[in-house]
Amino acid sequence: MGETKYIFVTGGVASSLGKGIISSSIGKLLQARGYNVTIQKFDPYINIDPGTLNPYEHGECYVTVDGHEADLDLGHYERFLGIQTTKANNITTGRIYKSVIDKERRGDYLGKTIQVIPHITDEIKRNVKLLGNKYKFDFVITEIGGTVGDIESLPYLESIRQLKWELGKNALCVHLTYVPYLAAAGELKTKPTQHSVKELQSVGIQPDVLVLRAEHPLSDGLRKKVAQFCNVDDKAVVQSIDAETIYEVPILMQAQGLDSTILEKMGLPVGETPGLGPWRKFLERRHAAKSKEPINIALVGKYDLQDAYKSIREALSQAGTYNDRKVEVHFVNSEKLTDENVGEALKGMAGVMIGPGFGQRGIDGKFVAIKYTRTHDIPTFGICLGMQCIAIEFARNVLGYADANSREMDEKTPHNVIDIMEEQKAITNMGGTMRLGAYECVLQKDSKAYQAYGQEHIQERHRHRYEFNNDYKDQYETAGMKCVGINPESDLVEIVEIPALKWFVGTQFHPEYGSTVLNPHPLFVAFVKAAIENEKATVND
Ligand code: GLN
Repeated sequence: MGETKYIFVTGGVASSLGKGIISSSIGKLLQARGYNVTIQKFDPYINIDPGTLNPYEHGECYVTVDGHEADLDLGHYERFLGIQTTKANNITTGRIYKSVIDKERRGDYLGKTIQVIPHITDEIKRNVKLLGNKYKFDFVITEIGGTVGDIESLPYLESIRQLKWELGKNALCVHLTYVPYLAAAGELKTKPTQHSVKELQSVGIQPDVLVLRAEHPLSDGLRKKVAQFCNVDDKAVVQSIDAETIYEVPILMQAQGLDSTILEKMGLPVGETPGLGPWRKFLERRHAAKSKEPINIALVGKYDLQDAYKSIREALSQAGTYNDRKVEVHFVNSEKLTDENVGEALKGMAGVMIGPGFGQRGIDGKFVAIKYTRTHDIPTFGICLGMQCIAIEFARNVLGYADANSREMDEKTPHNVIDIMEEQKAITNMGGTMRLGAYECVLQKDSKAYQAYGQEHIQERHRHRYEFNNDYKDQYETAGMKCVGINPESDLVEIVEIPALKWFVGTQFHPEYGSTVLNPHPLFVAFVKAAIENEKATVND
């Protein structure tokens, strides 16, 4: 296409309006027109990355194939576009400053005073253009975290102002705002949107397109009014009303011509509107699945917050669609689980997920849940810490080592069935030092995992410091838990299974990060399938 085009997505009025979904939808629509698209996110906080954050702060930590701990919006980008993002797709203020300070120490700016403008803004601009320059994308969409008006966002907005000036038609700003409905007055109110656009204009940015998030449809009159007050074209005011699923949003945006408006404004030919066939098929299948009873899956973990297990929830929901059933995820707080209440807590669950995590809190409840599903043969899927708990529970209750544990929970455990990885022992810094990113794994042919993947060699993403202790491998295998996925270089155990049970699988890696709308993850699809079969068997009992 020639020069890379840059689209900036900013947000106003309130946070959590769905900038990530709008960015992903724009990306999807442009990609459907044959363009090579990527999306990046700038987060205005000072942490270098979200790796050390508690999930209660910004939700789950996503992991890219190249081992970067990233904001969960990158998960949306990958799920919508089916692309793989990298470290260059998520930048924080901390990283921008660190890079500038490192350069200052090296002497790159000798003699100069280092300032927010131009040094910080130049570094932001360099990171915006990096993807375009290096990988020759047709479109780079840059989502700016936070809300316009935040002090922290200012250097980013200043960089957008400069880039819009420098790049002319090759840069465009989409601003997402909120139009509240006042029930008492029975009216939708545009004033907050007007204020938010003014705020942008006050830093020198005129948005080109406005996306108005609302709970009720906006009239043409109201859209015209917003266009007039905010200096944008009528058709560049698009509504984004609550959709039944986030995956409807690209369709809703396309129906309003959001992609064609963007192309026109950037001086590109509009051409025919793509049919989005496979995407629509997915939505139809998802919709049809809803006419049946949902399939109940428990998610056992300690973070009682939707976003903390975002990718797992999305992967389960996609796997449901591809099994023609809607998955109903029931969060089960592991801190509250005991041998006495577990039967009640997991009643009616066709399958049980044991979530990833860190630290001692809530761990005992995970053992309780695993013991229950193992002894009642309920399909079970443990991820990362979930897999480690599967191994520990087995050591305690089958191998007979009552004190078996992970070194993470008990440094002095005599039966360290989960141990610290050799290369982790000397590490003292917490940030970005886990075993991160994609590693190879070889599957045993007679395993459930192999059945699911249909291939022997796989690559999956990791985020952990502890590992299965190979000293115990023979004992496990003799007692009925098999190590069916192994890293060929390090010999690390990546997957354990109990073949005698219906579907009992634990993975040291995180398969959820790789599940996309059009390519659901095979392990999740297989797990949900096993849960459906289990449900049928139980009903027929
Ligand atoms: N805490 C465990 C480890 O570091 C598991 C991590 C996880 O679940 N992501 O090995």
